[in-house]
Amino acid sequence: MRKPTTVEAATGLVAALWAVYIGHDLSEHDVSALVTISVVLVLLHTGLTLGSRFQQATHTQLFTCPEPGCSVEIRSTNHPSERVARLRDLATDHTNHPSARS
Ligand SMILES: [Zn+2]
Repeated sequence: MRKPTTVEAATGLVAALWAVYIGHDLSEHDVSALVTISVVLVLLHTGLTLGSRFQQATHTQLFTCPEPGCSVEIRSTNHPSERVARLRDLATDHTNHPSARS
């Protein structure tokens, strides 16, 4: 399991604070414990998911083949620079794509 990034940690913290605030607010009203716990868990899940999706969206690179009509594309997320270079080479070298062999 990889360590959370700064964005993921920050959104997790905000989600946790938000969930605690809403959970405390619900507990002061006549809301059952089961509903309060459910709402808190949904808020935590939503916040963590949004942070993870934002992190993924901002750190994903898409490499496509420049040859017209070739549909080869490779997505790279959170790879080391050597691996990103290799993936870029694989995507842009049309001679190795299945449509180039036929
Ligand atoms: Zn190609």
